[in-house]
Amino acid sequence: MRKRPGREPVPAEHLDTVRHDIIHALDGRTLSALEISAEVSVSEKEVYEHLGHIMKSLSGAGRVLHVTPAECLKCGFVFKKRDRLKKPGRCPLCRGEQIQEPLFSVQ
Ligand SMILES: [Zn+2]
Repeated sequence: MRKRPGREPVPAEHLDTVRHDIIHALDGRTLSALEISAEVSVSEKEVYEHLGHIMKSLSGAGRVLHVTPAECLKCGFVFKKRDRLKKPGRCPLCRGEQIQEPLFSVQ
């Protein structure tokens, strides 16, 4: 990758490419944000941002981003109502911090 001096906004084309890559990575597979970040070579934080956009754009294309909610590994609490995609820090029931991260797939 080339490095250029000065600040440049990320071109829209680049964003489209990353999102396309994420959709491709999730097509018929189920991955966590960490696994997606490894495949697409963007940070986990960026993956979550892209997933938010992908969720909206896919609904217009007749496909759906399926989210398996995060789950507490200690007591089994499922974070169903969570509107953010990110992995929660701790369980509201048992205060456990062993959380199975949410999983994503495109169907
Ligand atoms: Zn719990």
